[in-house]
Amino acid sequence: MTSTALPCYNPPMHNTPWEELTACAKEALSHAYAPYSKLQVGAAVWTGKRIFSGCNVENASFGLSLCAERNALACAVAHAERPKALLLLADTPLPIVPCGACRQVLLELGAPQLPILCLTLSGQQAFFRLSQLLPFPFDEGFLKPTLP
Ligand SMILES: [Zn+2]
Repeated sequence: MTSTALPCYNPPMHNTPWEELTACAKEALSHAYAPYSKLQVGAAVWTGKRIFSGCNVENASFGLSLCAERNALACAVAHAERPKALLLLADTPLPIVPCGACRQVLLELGAPQLPILCLTLSGQQAFFRLSQLLPFPFDEGFLKPTLP
């Protein structure tokens, strides 16, 4: 499998503290526990009031590994807050995007228009709205019983 170059857009700068989010994600990335993949990832969630960060935490039982994004989101939820923006930082040549599981959790807690800025330590960036990354989500609408 080859990696694809991501589209690069400048994120909207108003109302979202991208520089502070970058600093928090960088700090979190420095604590990533990634002895198996060697892929260090930091994430920072802006809730409109505060920033919550997380890093990836791997496990020898790979299925137990936790993504940086979901760790940051769980921290926000533990403080009764919800995401308004996400910054994802990775020590990779090209920006990485949230995995499918994280996209689903982002949608559950956020909005389809949630801004997501993906950065590398060298400054490469890609900007998305969540709806671009998860255009046909599984959501609560599928859980409601349908009436004949
Ligand atoms: Zn993930």
